Amino acid sequence: MARELASVLVLVLPFLLLVWRTGAGGLDVDKLLFGEEYDVSAPSSLPPRLNLSRSSPPTGGDDEWKEEILRLARRPEAVEWVKELRRRIHEHPELAYEEVQTGRLIMEELDAMGVEYRFPLAMTGIVATIGTGEPPIVALRADMDALPIQEAVEWKHKSKIPGKMHACGHDAHVAMLVGAAKILKAREHHLKGTVKLLFQPAEEAGIGAKRMIEDGALRGVEAIFAVHVSHEHPTSVIGSKAGPLLAGCGFFKAVIKGRQGPADNPRHSVDPILAASAAVISLQNIVSRESNPLDSQVVSVAAVNGGSNLDLVPESAILGGTFRAFSNASFHKLRQRIEEIIVMQSSVYKCSASVDFFENERFYPPTVNDDIMYKHVKNVAVSLLGPKNYKDVPPMMGAEDFSFYSEIVPAAFYYIGVRNESLGSIHTGHSPYFMIDEDVLPVGAAVHAAIAERYFFLLEQG
Ligand SMILES: [Zn+2]
Ligand SMILES: [Zn+2]
Repeated sequence: MARELASVLVLVLPFLLLVWRTGAGGLDVDKLLFGEEYDVSAPSSLPPRLNLSRSSPPTGGDDEWKEEILRLARRPEAVEWVKELRRRIHEHPELAYEEVQTGRLIMEELDAMGVEYRFPLAMTGIVATIGTGEPPIVALRADMDALPIQEAVEWKHKSKIPGKMHACGHDAHVAMLVGAAKILKAREHHLKGTVKLLFQPAEEAGIGAKRMIEDGALRGVEAIFAVHVSHEHPTSVIGSKAGPLLAGCGFFKAVIKGRQGPADNPRHSVDPILAASAAVISLQNIVSRESNPLDSQVVSVAAVNGGSNLDLVPESAILGGTFRAFSNASFHKLRQRIEEIIVMQSSVYKCSASVDFFENERFYPPTVNDDIMYKHVKNVAVSLLGPKNYKDVPPMMGAEDFSFYSEIVPAAFYYIGVRNESLGSIHTGHSPYFMIDEDVLPVGAAVHAAIAERYFFLLEQG
């Protein structure tokens, strides 16, 4: 019996391990993390290795790192340089997978610093490396793409490309990460591991993070961090939370097919409008009757189109919308039920239906912060900037493709404030009036660098 069990386990165990190590996006985690370059026995692994049992930030006796990192970030020439870099990127916004000039600027700066990098990943992405070249490896990520929005802010460095704008602050993200590269290079002798700097394309559309992972950006990486500017917090205030931070976000578009016929004698038609109407009503029942009321979820039908002739039952109808959830299980359940309901309700009315979920373009799992990585970010922010400059934040229904990384390795995503009423930087991301307080740039660079350097230090301390 025991022998039979053992032989069953031998057969089943590799499959179970594959399932466990494979994210909801269907990625082969071992291959992506270790590839050919790293042995699976290398220190990188899915469970966090950092042990932060201390409830308060480590203090006393080791303040040198703070003063030195802040000093490097705040040197007048460094501040001028990082602002100028951000302005150059802002003036030439590039959309998803078109970040050629942005990448060239990044590589010029990395060359000038003597930082090595790999290019291209995910078409226009770059991965730079600083440190020992050995594990442990920690990753910091910046997204590079802009939005198809016409900038409405009148200022000296306004977008020079009509209809394109860095309206989500990804220009600032790039500048902060290049700024961090400069600090980390200056302190390379302090690094007890390797920092990978991921410059990623196509966050807004095109799920660039997933492509970066497929091209090996996470190879050997055991933790990853990223920052996003936020107009909700005063300049340079850091915000984050443990657990789910941003929702999983999907979109759907269904085509319901019937048979065209005269509206005055509808028995000769198969009515897709009636099927679409029933499907819209039934979709509302997923959240109200099938979901845990304590597990926030949304299904919204945002578009219904069908027919144009008031005397004719149309051939087809289209309906579509979005869905959000804060856990992978709920997110994928919503996707499954939306498809089932539309297809089955259509068949009730003798129609057929197909549903597109745009899974290669706009399909983001929830962004979930690892408890220990979140705590590390908080500790570093409080140590570096003081307790007044950190706050826990509530979860948001927005989404980020950083979630693809956080599905695979322990991760933390955090915000850095850019709100300054006197400058007018009060508008939300994706607004044509969006702008940032550039004083955030040196601070963001310092926080990035400190998160990586202190990770290695604390790991060594055990
Ligand atoms: Zn955005
Ligand atoms: Zn963004």
